[in-house]
Amino acid sequence: MTVARNRVVSIDYTLTGDDGTVFDSSKGQDPLAYVHGTGSIIPGLEAALEGKAPAAHVSVTVTPEQAYGMRDDSVVFTLPRAQFQGVADLAVGMQFQVQGDTEARVVTVIGIDEDEVIVDGNHPLAGLTLHFDVDILSVREATPDELEHGHAHEGPSGHEH
Ligand code: ZN
Repeated sequence: MTVARNRVVSIDYTLTGDDGTVFDSSKGQDPLAYVHGTGSIIPGLEAALEGKAPAAHVSVTVTPEQAYGMRDDSVVFTLPRAQFQGVADLAVGMQFQVQGDTEARVVTVIGIDEDEVIVDGNHPLAGLTLHFDVDILSVREATPDELEHGHAHEGPSGHEH
């Protein structure tokens, strides 16, 4: 069975940047299982896996447009430090969820001074070209429950209902 829409695909993967930095990997963890064609993985990787069979090794370079998008400087904000009063040991790299006008957004602290905190609402991998090395482990039809939920009920994404 090959990778196609509404099938559950299990993969081992390593994600690296242009300079070889490893951003993420399933090595040493459970494989990633996802429902193909539902947009639960980035578009460039989903397209590269389409039609592939178990045991296939897929090596693909994905542009920012097909990954986490380009960086958007309009989502870099300066907030008053007082807004972080309750946070112990505020440090660069910490992440917070903030409520915007329409949706909640995860921001990363990129700068701190006495009065102000600079936060960045871009995805940490925005603007980056990404390299994926993927081994396809298995492909099966999704169950009706999985299709309804839009995720696989196995491995780390499995959950109680
Ligand atoms: Zn579910």
